[in-house]
Amino acid sequence: ENKGLSALCVGVGSFCDPADLPGLAHFLEHMVFMGSEKYPSENGFDAFLKKHGGSDNASTDCERTVFQFDVQRKSFKEALDRWAQFFICPLMIRDAIDREVEAVDSEYQLAKPSDSHRKEMLFGSLAKPGHPMGKFCWGNAQTLKQEPKKKKINVYKRLRAFWKKHYSAHYMSLAVQSKEKLDTLEEWVREIFSKVPNNGLPKPDFSDLPDPFDTPAFNKLYRVVPVRKVHALNITWALPPQEKYYRVKPLHYISWLIGHEGTGSILSVLRKKCWALALFGGNSETGFDQNTTYSIFSISITLTDEGFQNFYQPLHVIIQKMLILSVDQFRIYEEIQKIEANEFHYQEQIDPIEYVEDVCENMQLFPKEDFLTGDQLMFEFNPQVISAALSLLTPEKANLMLLSPEHEGQCPLREKWFGTQYSVEDIQQNWMEQWTANLEFNIDLHLPAENKFIATDFTLKPSDCPDTEFPVQIANSDRGCLWYKKDNKFKIPKAYIRFHIISPVIQKSAKNVVLFDLLVNILGHNLAEPAYEAEVAQLDYKLVAGEHGLVIKVKGFNHKLPLLFHLIIDHLADFSASPDVFSMFSEQLKKTYFNILIKPEKLSKDVRLLILEHSRWSMVEKYQALSAGLSSDDLMEFSRCFRAQLFAEGLVQGNFSSAESVQFLQYITEKLQFTKLPAEVPVMFQVVELPLKHHVCKVKSLNKGDANSEVTVYYQSGPKNLKEYTLMELLVMHMEEPCFDFLRTKETLGYHVYPTCRNTSGVLGFSVTVETQATKFNTELVELKIEEFLTSFGEKLSELTEDAFNTQVTALVKLKECEDTHLGEEVDRNWSEVVTQQYVFNRLNKEIDALRQMSRSELVLWFQEHRGQKSRKLSVHVSSRGEGHEDAEEDSMYGEVSKLSFLQASPKMAPAVSIMDIQAFIKNLPLFPYHKILE
Ligand SMILES: [Zn+2]
Repeated sequence: ENKGLSALCVGVGSFCDPADLPGLAHFLEHMVFMGSEKYPSENGFDAFLKKHGGSDNASTDCERTVFQFDVQRKSFKEALDRWAQFFICPLMIRDAIDREVEAVDSEYQLAKPSDSHRKEMLFGSLAKPGHPMGKFCWGNAQTLKQEPKKKKINVYKRLRAFWKKHYSAHYMSLAVQSKEKLDTLEEWVREIFSKVPNNGLPKPDFSDLPDPFDTPAFNKLYRVVPVRKVHALNITWALPPQEKYYRVKPLHYISWLIGHEGTGSILSVLRKKCWALALFGGNSETGFDQNTTYSIFSISITLTDEGFQNFYQPLHVIIQKMLILSVDQFRIYEEIQKIEANEFHYQEQIDPIEYVEDVCENMQLFPKEDFLTGDQLMFEFNPQVISAALSLLTPEKANLMLLSPEHEGQCPLREKWFGTQYSVEDIQQNWMEQWTANLEFNIDLHLPAENKFIATDFTLKPSDCPDTEFPVQIANSDRGCLWYKKDNKFKIPKAYIRFHIISPVIQKSAKNVVLFDLLVNILGHNLAEPAYEAEVAQLDYKLVAGEHGLVIKVKGFNHKLPLLFHLIIDHLADFSASPDVFSMFSEQLKKTYFNILIKPEKLSKDVRLLILEHSRWSMVEKYQALSAGLSSDDLMEFSRCFRAQLFAEGLVQGNFSSAESVQFLQYITEKLQFTKLPAEVPVMFQVVELPLKHHVCKVKSLNKGDANSEVTVYYQSGPKNLKEYTLMELLVMHMEEPCFDFLRTKETLGYHVYPTCRNTSGVLGFSVTVETQATKFNTELVELKIEEFLTSFGEKLSELTEDAFNTQVTALVKLKECEDTHLGEEVDRNWSEVVTQQYVFNRLNKEIDALRQMSRSELVLWFQEHRGQKSRKLSVHVSSRGEGHEDAEEDSMYGEVSKLSFLQASPKMAPAVSIMDIQAFIKNLPLFPYHKILE
């Protein structure tokens, strides 16, 4: 690790928002970064981090605010000093206020179409009047700008006052991680952070406001109209704060049993009845779910159409399950304890940024000796604590929220901040009586049996082949091949097995792509119950419907991993789907496609790739194929074709010998009994060569109620080599900070603005993307601003000094030289070479070599060349309607998604040509040959 990282937690958050300025704590979290007395420049810290390969972030929670950054180790001390100034003497530049409020507003606008955020806001609104759980913690332009203006509130003064009162050293915690000696780090921290002021005032305390949801409004049924098409039932209980029982973790124990998916579980029973697809239970440990005033326990079920129609039935099963939870606690507690301890003991380094963040938050919650383990381990079994929590999870104390698109038109109420439509009613009396008076046992429900997937053998295996730096091919036939690398670096009793099972039938038609999605979803469903125990024993599996094949990923302790792998392949070999299950999943998949299409950023990607990648099926075409109607016979026929001819390509890394690894490939070929492919299947698409012009494809957003638009301006380069790729990476790195400064900070176009390099099936390009709000800017104006930015960037770039160029090259080289922190990172990198069939396992070294030979003028010339008259430029606009364009009230809020509406660009975009029909546009364009980036 050649990085230094740090996280700082302030023990206050949105609960401290003043009543007349909702969102002030969040706003301050943004503003505090706007220059400091010692380093006054507004974007100075970001610019410094970008130059030295770093990044930063921050987040505001109910009772905590966390800041973190990472940077190359050699700049760590300087970065710490620059960062600490925000807590010592920030400037919060006055004229940045109006602009930064737009970033906060944009964040609010982005959150608005999210069902989970909407649910939280609605839930919070049920709290007792005046309780902080009911606060609007996001903040927006209305609460932080317009309202204060009207009421003559000086926001600037209030920000400074909030900072002075609440950013006090005595309840801040700091974590630093870097390879320096501990003494050195301590010295730095003392030297720099001792200047953070301490006002000695008591820490804000809310623990005297218990039972926020002890209100008549709570124990009711709320019907909600969601943004996404989904039926879901949420059952929520508000318990006394449970954080103090972190050594027992009663809610973790209960959620483990509620969320169990093996035989005898709630979900198993619901799945068999075709009522539910998924179930989650527990407490997410965010400030909203757990704070000093209460703890949440919630169960969330994704229902099928039938489950929704009879939603009291699945609820009944849950209440029945509660009956048997109190029995036999010790055996199960011990098992969970063992699993958590195994996980902790053989923990692979989690994302280091997350780690320092966790540690500095733990420092606010636990005594010193539990700083590193308090959030993870189950320390002691305490049946009283568990029973006390369990006894509160009764129907009389539950809050029910039922989400369904079918509620549209029946919900007269609107939540104040996010506009969620809802209605409220009493829970049906006859059910309530059944639950409270004479609840009968359900014989299909029982506690889980002993888990056979828990590893007990942690020995490292002796090697049976020479050590290698990169994977080598150890098996190869016309039906499959295997890449293998024995782990000789991390030395843990874990392993990764991945296979790409390639078939040419998937891309034959949009219908086939849909059937393949169904196959993978139903395979997952068939596996869910038998493989669940493996999952809780920390063995992970993932099935992905790739563009050209099925991707199977398995990882975890190697001891029982083959058991899980065999289970998956056996289910693939014996694949079947009953008509019930088939219709449940096709109904669900239709909702999934819908939910993808209504997201502007997903639609934008779909449109861009539809233009660029030849013979790709679009999401809209898939939605149409599915709506046209498919049968379970179609699926069984597809599954037969799919399994008849295949090529299986795998990668095994970790604690398996080469002899053991070869057996995984053998198991696939023997069990699936397929024949070889008639011809090689290219695992990529052919790409369209854009004309030397500017084209704009402008489509209407398919989410009627969403104000978010997206603009992506893409410059195509072509089928280039590895050197060009690194050049573009370098370019994008140079662009990031000025792009953010220009488009987000100065022009306030939106919260998400970013340049990126694009590798589209081997064809390179770069793009700048802005997510904006139609209520503020139209997409054409945004595009013109992006152009303005690129022009100013071009000017700056041509003045780039040799020194600045070299600093950035070094930063990028350092990033590429950054050692893997865990085996998974190495596997991910190697796997991307296998799955794209490029096999350049030493790509990073080659890229570093290319970077070291690059000159300043090459970079400048390249940019000029691609930006001049002769550029192949494609803009994709997903344009939302914004406010005032909402259709008449009686119209549905759900748009029609089976067709794209193209919009003509205005004369302002001249000389750009509008694409009004994608097929007609690409029909006569030449195709680049298949291309891999190898040299
Ligand atoms: Zn924010």
